[in-house]
Amino acid sequence: MELLIRHGLIVTQDAARRVIEGDVMVEDGLITSVGKGGSGSDHVIDAEGGIVMPGLFNTHTHVGMTDLRGLLDDMNLEPFLEKTFRLDNGRTSGEIQSASIHAIHEMLAGGTTSFADLYYSEDVIAEACGQTGIRGFLAWVTLDREITTQKGDPVKNADDFCKRFSKPGLVTPMVGLQGVYVCSEETAMAAKSVAHRRGRGMHMHLCETRHEVYSHEARTGRRPVDWLSSIGFLDGSAPLLAAHGAWLTRNEMKTLHAAGVSVSSCARSNMKLGSGIPPVEELRSEGVTVSLGTDSATTSNNLDMFEEMRTASLLQKVNKWDASVLPASGVLDMVTRNAAGSLGVLGTLGSIEEGKKADIILLDRRSARLFPLGKENVIQQIVYSAQSSDVTHTIVDGRQVYSRGGSEGAPWNGMTPS
Ligand SMILES: [Zn+2]
Repeated sequence: MELLIRHGLIVTQDAARRVIEGDVMVEDGLITSVGKGGSGSDHVIDAEGGIVMPGLFNTHTHVGMTDLRGLLDDMNLEPFLEKTFRLDNGRTSGEIQSASIHAIHEMLAGGTTSFADLYYSEDVIAEACGQTGIRGFLAWVTLDREITTQKGDPVKNADDFCKRFSKPGLVTPMVGLQGVYVCSEETAMAAKSVAHRRGRGMHMHLCETRHEVYSHEARTGRRPVDWLSSIGFLDGSAPLLAAHGAWLTRNEMKTLHAAGVSVSSCARSNMKLGSGIPPVEELRSEGVTVSLGTDSATTSNNLDMFEEMRTASLLQKVNKWDASVLPASGVLDMVTRNAAGSLGVLGTLGSIEEGKKADIILLDRRSARLFPLGKENVIQQIVYSAQSSDVTHTIVDGRQVYSRGGSEGAPWNGMTPS
């Protein structure tokens, strides 16, 4: 199947960060030419001079919780988790599937083409990915068996999930950890050994709140990163994506960097829960790869990566009283190249380059808030001005999975998902 995107202002996000005017040609899910004139395609989209850019990555969320949106607000993380665990007890697969489908539609309409999820029932969420055509990096969450609401042993469930979805496709299985507050040394190491044995990455909450850090220190004598390091969890045998990292010392950042751990920063979730200001500038200066996540719709209340980009940057600037920190180019890298790197897929995703998978979004040139638009300011327009409603088309794996104005519940008008 061929797809030709014509007349684009192409933000490639390649190694040289080239912005070029022209066409993008896609064949069988792969980008075959960038910038040159294309012709003779089954399907043509005219970008009309609008922005053509890599699809966005949301590297930390819980799509299965979307049906709890608006029901868990205005409370700190600890009572939030208590209430969430209680609600999780009675949830059905049907509810999780419906919540996930709604979340995915919201993400596709907002230009997100890949998301990293941390939850149980990831098999149900994997089905939702297949139905909608989004790319999912799905981590089955583990925690101590005696407190879980999951049926059976969470570590075995994670292992079974990785085995069942081992075939390459839209879904990449991963192994999750809820956090050090519900994972003993035995659980953490068992989960890591599953990830290592299956050749999969890991995803966990880490140092999200002051309470998490101080209570862990009171219980074990070590802060969470030092503790994970001391038990051998950070030996690099399974790549780790750590969500939040809002409460880290410089030494802990050095430890994370040495262990190859990347961080998904969730500014709006940290702000809404009153958790703290994530030290993104310090993490970047220590060489840690940072990407951005919305967290679930119960904490940041939408899954909008344009809002997340802008907020992440503004929060760092006001925190440092310095407008030069976390510039637009750095933010755009976080939701494209950095995110792909943190999930181990920079070789195939995260930029518009020949040979890469065609995960591409288009933004409307006619949007008043994107005026004026040219090569010299396009990155700033994306990060500081654009809104998710400016997205006109979302393409994953060469398939158009959303177009603005497409009928509700069937966003892939024009092309049938295969
Ligand atoms: Zn989370």
